[in-house]
Amino acid sequence: MKILVINCGSSSLKYQLIDMAGESVIAKGLCERIGIEGSKLTHEPADQDKYVVENPMPDHTTAIQMVMDALQDKDHGVITSTDEITAIGHRVLHAGTVYSDSIIVNEDVKRVIKECFDLGPLHNPANLMGIEACEKAMPGKANVAVWDTGFGMKMPEKAYLYAIPYEYYEKYSIRRYGFHGTSHMFVSGEAIKFGGLDPEKAKVIVCHLGNGASVSASIGGKCVDTSMGLTPLEGLIMGTRSGDIDPAVVQFICNKEGKDVNEVLNILNKKSGVLGMSGGISSDFRDIENAKKEGNHLAAVAMDAFIYRVAKYIGAYTAAMNGVDAIAFTAGVGENDVAGRKAICEYLGYLGVKIDDEANNVRGKERVISAADSKVKVMLIPTNEELAIARETKALIQ
Ligand code: AMP
Repeated sequence: MKILVINCGSSSLKYQLIDMAGESVIAKGLCERIGIEGSKLTHEPADQDKYVVENPMPDHTTAIQMVMDALQDKDHGVITSTDEITAIGHRVLHAGTVYSDSIIVNEDVKRVIKECFDLGPLHNPANLMGIEACEKAMPGKANVAVWDTGFGMKMPEKAYLYAIPYEYYEKYSIRRYGFHGTSHMFVSGEAIKFGGLDPEKAKVIVCHLGNGASVSASIGGKCVDTSMGLTPLEGLIMGTRSGDIDPAVVQFICNKEGKDVNEVLNILNKKSGVLGMSGGISSDFRDIENAKKEGNHLAAVAMDAFIYRVAKYIGAYTAAMNGVDAIAFTAGVGENDVAGRKAICEYLGYLGVKIDDEANNVRGKERVISAADSKVKVMLIPTNEELAIARETKALIQ
């Protein structure tokens, strides 16, 4: 069975064709600059060279058509007909409070995605365009929506309600949703399997540390808490996002700088995080680390603050679960930053966490990185959201 996984952004579209027999990637690719001049598709069949097509892509329908053409191309293709694709799995950001479990798309699902445009203004419209483009290109095939908020939707009320007048939850569904849900679901599940933990009871903290970053706590794979909120702005310090902040800061900057709320929120989303804290060096953690090594004080503080915030969340989530069996690191920084993982774990000595430096000296590979006598298993688990979406899709259509 071959499943096509689609992840649409407002001007981009990532895809993977996965053979579910061995869970292997047959081909993957990226459409960039959809709706903008200079669009291009980069198609990568497994074990073959990249194939780049530079053609105008005015919309997602054209982009999907180009993906179909690339998949069936006589020289670079991997299938002879779209009949070989059993179903399509889509990463969809938001279903508000309506859906949390993955679902086969029907008219009602599309209506809900549309009704949640205000909750996910950048992603939901693009996600819907991707679904409708696939419906046109491959009529009759099942499209499955896998919600990025799905994992966080399982949090209990005490974790998801904000301490604001309840009517705002009732009227506008304002609550904490959490994002990176597919990654947290996948990595917590893999950590349980790889660590040989009790699938019903294991207390797992996942640190998804990339340009966007979030932490989750789950027991037996069910989310207890997660750090992102109504939007991805809450929680950790990220590449460009501030994470947790006193909301009064927004009013203060508005008054001092003569800006409106939207402008300040844009600053908190796009110009803050390690980029803002470092005085504008970069949103890329490698640049921040390099600047720190060269003696830049603000870069050092930004990196320290990022690590400190992760450690604080791990402490809070250990308390929330009354213990922790495993801590898993994932995403760009979590999978690659050997020193960063060690620095976070140095805060956790009180939990009996001990890192094995040799085991920790690894990038992008599933591995236990804690010492044999560590009271908590610490692991590196590479995330694979596409595979998680493909698995959900397969489970639903069978
Ligand atoms: P992601 O959003 O998951 O793709 O992660 C991207 C982030 O991972 C970028 O900020 C990169 O700088 C960071 N990253 C990748 N490799 C490393 C590394 N070796 N050390 C530190 N950060 C890294």
